[in-house]
Amino acid sequence: MSFALVALSVPARQLFTYRVPAELEGAAVPGASVELKFRNRRMRGVIVERTKTTELNPDKVNPIDKVLGAPVLTPHLIALARWVAEYYLAPPGEAVAAALPGGQDGLARSRARKGAVEDHVMGMAMPERVTLTAAQRAATTAVEKAVAKGGFQPFLLHGVTASGKTEVYLRAARAAREAGGQALVLVPEVALGSQIVERFRTRFGGRVELLHSYLGVGTRRRNWELARRGALDVVVGARSAVFAPLPNLKVIVVDEEHEGAYKQSEKLRYHGRDVAVRRAQMLGIPVVLGSATPALESLANAARGKYARLALPDRVDKRPLPTVSIVDLRRENAASGLVSRPMLAAVTERLERGEQSLLWLNRRGHSHHVQCRGCGWTPECERCDITLTLHSDPLELRCHYCDHRQPAYQQCPDCKMPLLRFGGAGTQRVERELAQKFPKARVLRLDTDVARGDRDEPAKILEAFALGEADILLGTQMIAKGLDFPNVTLVGVLDADVALHLPDFRAAERTWQLLVQVSGRAGRGKRPGEVLVQTCTPDHPAIAAVATGDTAAFVKEVLAERREVEYPPFSRMVALLVSGPDESEVESAANALAERAHAVADEYGVTVLGPAPQALARLRNQHRWHLLLKGHDAARVRAAAAAAIAWAEEPGRKLRVRVMADVDPVEVL
Ligand code: ADP
Ligand code: ZN
Ligand code: ZN
Repeated sequence: MSFALVALSVPARQLFTYRVPAELEGAAVPGASVELKFRNRRMRGVIVERTKTTELNPDKVNPIDKVLGAPVLTPHLIALARWVAEYYLAPPGEAVAAALPGGQDGLARSRARKGAVEDHVMGMAMPERVTLTAAQRAATTAVEKAVAKGGFQPFLLHGVTASGKTEVYLRAARAAREAGGQALVLVPEVALGSQIVERFRTRFGGRVELLHSYLGVGTRRRNWELARRGALDVVVGARSAVFAPLPNLKVIVVDEEHEGAYKQSEKLRYHGRDVAVRRAQMLGIPVVLGSATPALESLANAARGKYARLALPDRVDKRPLPTVSIVDLRRENAASGLVSRPMLAAVTERLERGEQSLLWLNRRGHSHHVQCRGCGWTPECERCDITLTLHSDPLELRCHYCDHRQPAYQQCPDCKMPLLRFGGAGTQRVERELAQKFPKARVLRLDTDVARGDRDEPAKILEAFALGEADILLGTQMIAKGLDFPNVTLVGVLDADVALHLPDFRAAERTWQLLVQVSGRAGRGKRPGEVLVQTCTPDHPAIAAVATGDTAAFVKEVLAERREVEYPPFSRMVALLVSGPDESEVESAANALAERAHAVADEYGVTVLGPAPQALARLRNQHRWHLLLKGHDAARVRAAAAAAIAWAEEPGRKLRVRVMADVDPVEVL
């Protein structure tokens, strides 16, 4: 008898053993999609391994009923998915599902796949004559050599905004094609993907396609199939494209590698960038991580020599970086709304000159904090150095790391001014303000509300703006990164402080990244750019760093703080997330889990923080708590987390809660 280990799309951290009937012996190979019965339900699964033996009673093992065509995953992608499941302490079935476009169901016999044909008309590529800058040439040469030679080599391409990083990616992809293989280009945002994909299309013709979850499942399967057959030279895609089935992958590019969007925040909590690095290592190929504001983890890896650093310190064509000025909101009349007078004046200037402005409001739903309008003071946890979050029922301030609680302040302890509460959306309010102040200006708004209505809408809006059909683009995170609009000469940041006060140890780092990125949208064409940053805390290092442009000093300061409190990159973390319908059960399970973690803490060299409610304490009627495990050895921190989870998963435990791990959490809220 022989058996197969099958990955099923169920939330269990295990593979399932099935018997392979003699007649399916030849077809039931690893990577094959199969049909079988699971708990009296017919299901699809993917074989990840064949075995001759099983520890189970062979007579009780159910058979595979059907094999659905040729394998959908190669041994390499199976190995990658298994690594993802193991590293992220996640169900292997979910990792395998992530590697398949639109999941398992219907993939094997998808009509879109069978009908996938190459676009031969578009196959013609246009050579583009670009004279590289000296820095681009150095970076390009290093990457091209590494691609031609093969072998695992991670690069950190640290280039200021508009330094021409895309040109380096394009040449890396060309080198891959010349070596007879393909390139994979990851971008954090879909809207961003469409702009980059156009640039690759001009260079590579029709042998470039997109892969991301916003595409309809038919298109995704078509592109996936083309990639699998080797009919594409380049796949551009968001996070899940890290599993793109390119048969002879020669280089991976991760654009804006610092972006939190690379980390999936639900279900399978993997980090697209880190999986990309792992995939490159498994294949023995180079991987290029590019950013103007690298993650501190990546900077640390470069400093340790794990990543080779490539620097593009200047903008192309000797274009200057934009000048950044601060608008101190404490001196502005609060009654005048979200757009200050200096901001209005700057927009007026652009309207008169026929130039474009980009106004950015980074408001998130759950960013409830209080702040003094007088001095900018915000209450912080006395034990954790993070901003306290305002809760309304009961009215109090809470630390989302350690659950420290204290009464909500009514006034600033320093200057006795009343404290203001923040939170909620604001783009629509700004839109009304702009309509009032500039009745003739053409304003486009882009935020998640707009995107929710129609998934093509963001791309349409960006295209309209690129064509000069509007004077002002107003938006949230979605407009902060990567976009290249040469006619934008003003970037206005309406509230620089929002991300600063999220109760997350990366708040300062993220604020700096966002501000540098959004500033980088100004002055990318022939005319110089100006950035106005509205803030209540002009002296905060993250904001001051954007004004002075002194990245090195800021990074050094933040790293010193991280080292002191032993946060990443000076430690590794795993968050354990507990959720369930009943608040007291969730709380007591979280406490029990913390106890388990404490019991193994010494053995594995970890510290346990919490448990505490998550910032988003209830989501879709699920109460959410978490605890954090922190230590110096990544494998041992994961082992400690695994031990705690294993306890919760013991048969007979019957917890009415769900326990999940978030390895290397990006949002610790
Ligand atoms: P980044 O990704 O670093 O922000 P981009 O790659 O978008 O920058 O490049 C910014 C602009 O400069 C683009 O419009 C690009 O076409 C142009 N560009 C890139 N390299 C060169 C070069 N060597 N000479 C002239 N223009 C360039
Ligand atoms: Zn004050
Ligand atoms: Zn605390």
